[in-house]
Amino acid sequence: MSGTQIDLKCRACDAPLSHTFVDLGTAPLCQRHVTPARFSHAEATYPQHVFVCTQCFLVQLPQYVNREEIFDDEYAYFSSFSDTWLKHAEDYVEKVIPRFGIGARSSVVEIASNDGYLLQYFKQRGVPCLGVEPTANTAAAAVAKGIPTVVRFFGAQTARDLRRERGPADLILGNNVLAHVPDINDLVAGMKILLGDNGVITMEFPVLSRLIENNYFDTIYHEHFSYLSFTTVRGLFAKHGITLFDVEDLPTHGGSIRIYGRHSTDASRPETANVQRVLQREKELGHFDLAYYDRFSERVKESKRKILDFLIGAKRDGKTVVAYGAPGKGNTLLNYCGIRTDFIDYTVDRSPHKQGNFLPGSRIPILDPSAIDRTRPDYVFILVWNLKDEVISRMGHIRNWGGRFVVPLPEIQVLD
Ligand SMILES: [Zn+2]
Repeated sequence: MSGTQIDLKCRACDAPLSHTFVDLGTAPLCQRHVTPARFSHAEATYPQHVFVCTQCFLVQLPQYVNREEIFDDEYAYFSSFSDTWLKHAEDYVEKVIPRFGIGARSSVVEIASNDGYLLQYFKQRGVPCLGVEPTANTAAAAVAKGIPTVVRFFGAQTARDLRRERGPADLILGNNVLAHVPDINDLVAGMKILLGDNGVITMEFPVLSRLIENNYFDTIYHEHFSYLSFTTVRGLFAKHGITLFDVEDLPTHGGSIRIYGRHSTDASRPETANVQRVLQREKELGHFDLAYYDRFSERVKESKRKILDFLIGAKRDGKTVVAYGAPGKGNTLLNYCGIRTDFIDYTVDRSPHKQGNFLPGSRIPILDPSAIDRTRPDYVFILVWNLKDEVISRMGHIRNWGGRFVVPLPEIQVLD
C-alpha cells in the first residue's frame, strides 16, 4: 500500500501521506478481548501501516477504523488497576495545584478522564472538577466515585457546550488523549474554546523520540492514531493560538513528555528554557531527516527475529512460558510476531474485566495472577514492560521455583 493507491492525507497539516514509518501488517483492535461467547466468531482485522508526514513530520496511523468502533462500551481499559499510574496521577495533582494556584473556586476539566483515576485527587482536595469521557462503562465507574462525568467525545462542539453550561476552565488536562484522537485539530480547537483567559492546558503523551530510541513498536495500535514529537505538537497548538510555554520529561509509558499550554495572547506565563532545550534535542536526533524514521523499520524486523529465537529455543528445551499483563501493546507484539498458545500458555492480569477472556488475534487466555503460582512456569514474559518493576516486586517469588522474568523490548532480555 502506498499513498498513490489510496488517498491519504496528514491529519495535522493535510499534506499527502505516502512515506512509510513502519508496517506491522494487520491485527484486530487490541482492547477488544474475545469473550468465551465470541470464541468461535471471526475477528475483524485492520492495517497497522504507519506513515510519517514529510511536511510536519507527524507520525500517524491513518484512521482505518472509526473511533466509535474502538471506544465503545466494551472498551476494557480501566486506569485504576495500576498502582504505578495512580501514584503518578496523585503526584501530578500535588504539583499542579500550588504551581497554578488551583483551588476551591477553580474549574478543572479532564479530557478522557477514564474511571476518575486522576480527578479523584482533585476532589479529595476540594477542587471542583469535571470529566469528559466517551466510554460509558469507565465513565460510570467515575460517577460512582462521586466525580461528575459527561459521556462525550471532546472537540470544538463539546467545548462550546461545556463553556456555555459551566463557564471556562482554569485547567484543562488530558493524559494519553492527544494520540488517541483521529481529528487532532478538532481536539486542540476545543481546548482553545474552553480555556479561560489565564488558564493552563497540560497534556502528557508518549514521545516519539523515546519510542524510536527504545524500539517500542508495540505501542503502535489502532487506538493510537498519532505518535507525537514536541516539535510537531508545538506547531499544531501554535496554529490554534496556543503557546506551549513549558515541557518536561516523564518516565511513564516508556518515556513521555508533559506539555504546558496557554493562550498565545496571555503574557503572564513566559516560556521556560525547557522549550528550546527539547526542540534542540529533537532536531539533533533527526526530527527533520527521513532517514531517522527509516532506520526504525529495520530495527523492528530484527527484534521480531530475536523474540522468536528466544521462544523457539525455550520451547525446544521443554520450558514453559506464560505472560504477565493484557495491555493493548502486548497484542501488537504478539500478533506481529505470530505468537500464540504454541509459545505462551496463558497471560495473567489483575483486572477482573479482562480475566476469563482471550487476547484478540492470538487467542491466548487471560487468567488471574494466581495461575502463575499454580503452574510454576519457567519464564514469565512481561508484556506490561512499563510496569516491569511493579510486576517483579509483586511476583518475585517465581524465583523460588527457578522461574525467570523476560522483558521483550527494547531487546529481548532474560532477567537474573
Ligand atoms: Zn503533516
